[in-house]
Amino acid sequence: MAKIKTHYEDCDVLVVGGGMAGTGAAFEARHWGRDLKIVCVEKANIDRSGAVAQGLYAINCYMGMQWNENQPEDHVRYARNDLMGLVREDLGYDMARHVDSTVHMFDEWGLPMMKDEKTGRYLREGKWQIMIHGESYKPIVAEAAKKSADKIYNRIMITHLLMDESKENRVGGAVGFNMRTGDYYVFRAKAVIVAAGGASHIFKPRAVGEGMGRTWYAPWSNGSAYALPIAVGAKMTQMENRIVLTRFKDGYGPVGAYFLHLKTYTRNGKGENYEKKWYEQTKKLVGEYIDHHPVPTCLRNHAFIEEVKAGGGPIHMVTTEAFQDPHLEIIGWENFLGMTIGQAVVWASQNIDPKYEDPELTTSEPYVMGSHATCSGAWVSGPEDLSPSEYFWGYNRMMTVDGLFGAGDTVGGSAHKFSSGSFTEGRLAAKAAVKYIQDLGNEKIEVNDEQCKDFKKIIYKPLENYKVGRNEITAGTVSPSYILPIQGLQRLQKIMDEYCGGISVNYMTNDNLLKKGLELLDMLQEDLEYVGAEDYHQLMRAWELKHRALTSQCVTEHTLFREETRWPGYYYRGDHMKLDDDNWHCLTVSRRDPKTGKFTMEKAPLYHIVDEKKKEAS
Ligand SMILES: Cc1cc2nc3c(=O)[nH]c(=O)nc-3n(C[C@H](O)[C@H](O)[C@H](O)COP(=O)(O)OP(=O)(O)OC[C@H]3O[C@@H](n4cnc5c(N)ncnc54)[C@H](O)[C@@H]3O)c2cc1C
Repeated sequence: MAKIKTHYEDCDVLVVGGGMAGTGAAFEARHWGRDLKIVCVEKANIDRSGAVAQGLYAINCYMGMQWNENQPEDHVRYARNDLMGLVREDLGYDMARHVDSTVHMFDEWGLPMMKDEKTGRYLREGKWQIMIHGESYKPIVAEAAKKSADKIYNRIMITHLLMDESKENRVGGAVGFNMRTGDYYVFRAKAVIVAAGGASHIFKPRAVGEGMGRTWYAPWSNGSAYALPIAVGAKMTQMENRIVLTRFKDGYGPVGAYFLHLKTYTRNGKGENYEKKWYEQTKKLVGEYIDHHPVPTCLRNHAFIEEVKAGGGPIHMVTTEAFQDPHLEIIGWENFLGMTIGQAVVWASQNIDPKYEDPELTTSEPYVMGSHATCSGAWVSGPEDLSPSEYFWGYNRMMTVDGLFGAGDTVGGSAHKFSSGSFTEGRLAAKAAVKYIQDLGNEKIEVNDEQCKDFKKIIYKPLENYKVGRNEITAGTVSPSYILPIQGLQRLQKIMDEYCGGISVNYMTNDNLLKKGLELLDMLQEDLEYVGAEDYHQLMRAWELKHRALTSQCVTEHTLFREETRWPGYYYRGDHMKLDDDNWHCLTVSRRDPKTGKFTMEKAPLYHIVDEKKKEAS
């Protein structure tokens, strides 16, 4: 331990994670805080980090207000409908009213946007999506962040948040380690913006063994965005609202461009349109929500899952018609080459030419994230001009810990932000964080050396565990004294899969299963004290696992609390199979006590701000 070098960095704004939201935060913090010190810390390298690392083919959230294509109210209605009524409309509206300005900046910064030849407008893929040549998307936003921040630290994983010792419940910075040098880093900051992405690999994935690591969401998104705030007692919301995606089988290739632009459609193994077969059955579960347009994503999943359970699989995407048009065929392939090359490789390796064979679809394992068609994340304050009192406590996007902000996947209740909305939310959080710092005036944050030294011991313990435990190995890699990160990960995935509604149980769970799952997760937490890391890379894996485990506990607690099946197709509470608007048209909020590790749950009121200013059941 003595050999490990410690570096100290004092700053005003600390951005944790340099993905879409983090780069937006670094950029905007400089705009409002010209004289502030802004630091961004990234686990990978911000030029190619996060879910957009490989690029994207579409910007999924653009209003087009300049052409009166959509208004923010329309987007709130859309997200509300897709999430079966439950979103934070203040947050969604706030993001939507600013997102166009973000996209216009991307255009100015050189992101190649596709244009409609007839109208000169951005080329629409769907009502909300515009098409881009997006291979360079991430380096472009990274450049904006690099030019704005005082310093970008790459290859540093943040493991814990520091707390101010002069005032209760106020953040004081963060600590972590460099995965290449092993050095320990202490960042003392007045405000921290967590923008560390979502959580993949907490449920057992479909691709195991040779395919492990092939997931839909970025495999390196490990739930730090949730674990960091949960550990210091920040409240979380809608963590039960995990997402399941319908995607091309084995490569997780996205289907959006296929449905929207290529106008392909699905059918079952017998060539039938199966979705309508499940209409009556779904109506019994969710009532009139099935008649909404567009049909909520989870309900389309539900028809898929039911059809496969009933023996109607495999489900195919009918590409053989659209691909006869050479232009659409090119678009179909380019769609993958621009963001999911793996899908094109899978098809090539399995001799699937979508021009002559309709490829199979599947439903993915669940993911936890707050920026896609789902709402999990931190419970944050909304903007002053929109938010009812229960949703507002001083600074936009500030969590229930003072000075701690969130954006992108980190923030709960505000679905359908995607890449552009996440960048926008980073901007909103940064603007508020600067205001928070300005309001602090001369007040100092106190983080004493004891706190930093304690974390140093905790962070490097897995190296120590390995060093001692390996002496007991007589053969192979298994030691009685430690578990390796991969072993812990597989155990976590198995618990979540079997008890919290993963793929092997067709997304089904219930009270008994969830309680057992929580018991097993507690035991896992105990054993994670003995996780062993043979090098700095494995140390990262150990901390990723710990963050995933804490996130999973929170997801399971939430799933147990909500006694209804609100999103069939995402998961089912077998003991409460129906949607229950009388009791559960509300948001769920949790808090983990940092001292005891126990979670408490509560309901928060749901306000419909667009269309009706009505408080609904709480
Ligand atoms: C397969 C796929 C397809 C998608 N398609 C589209 C699309 O077509 N259009 C669209 O608009 N959006 C799309 N999205 C959504 C979009 O990518 C996300 O909404 C957006 O990236 C979320 O931004 P974020 O900043 O919250 O997370 P990310 O962009 O993932 O950034 C999180 C960052 O935090 C870093 N990090 C994580 N943990 C730590 C830690 N402990 N310490 C330091 N750094 C850390 C990560 O390395 C990463 O750089 C897609 C996402 C996926 C996965």
